[in-house]
Amino acid sequence: MNETRLIMSGDKFNFDYMHVIPDHRGGCSSAHGHSSTIALTVTGLVDEERHWVVDFGEIKRVVLNVINELDHRFIVCKNYMYAQTEGSYQVRWRSIYGTFDLVAPKERVVLLDTDPTVEALSAWVVHHVVEQLPENVRSVNVIMNEGVGKAAEVVWDMSTAEDV
Ligand SMILES: [Zn+2]
Repeated sequence: MNETRLIMSGDKFNFDYMHVIPDHRGGCSSAHGHSSTIALTVTGLVDEERHWVVDFGEIKRVVLNVINELDHRFIVCKNYMYAQTEGSYQVRWRSIYGTFDLVAPKERVVLLDTDPTVEALSAWVVHHVVEQLPENVRSVNVIMNEGVGKAAEVVWDMSTAEDV
């Protein structure tokens, strides 16, 4: 079996989100939005019966499911959530501009363990993509754009990664 790279990108791998980096000493400490795109490379052994690594349609389905979890959501570090009701989170942070304090429906909020930098978000995406791909996949490489002209690239290598 030979190892092959599949490369996927496209207009459909686009999503929009709001986030905040409260400790940032500039504009990122204010809640703001980005339009983002994903491109990925999936490296794995070619299946001897099907002659593919993974069906492109399967990769597309997985990626769309994962980015749908972020699309049009408010993404924030869980440390800033200070109260919740059954249906909503209350989030507060102090920025260089003053204090933000907002209530948001839980279904429109993604709480991360860290600040939602593009580095953290691309790692979140690759983690969730990897766990849905078959075992012949050896590595997944995700490039996530944050707006125009800025991107993070993260590589998930199965041989060195911890279990997902
Ligand atoms: Zn930002």
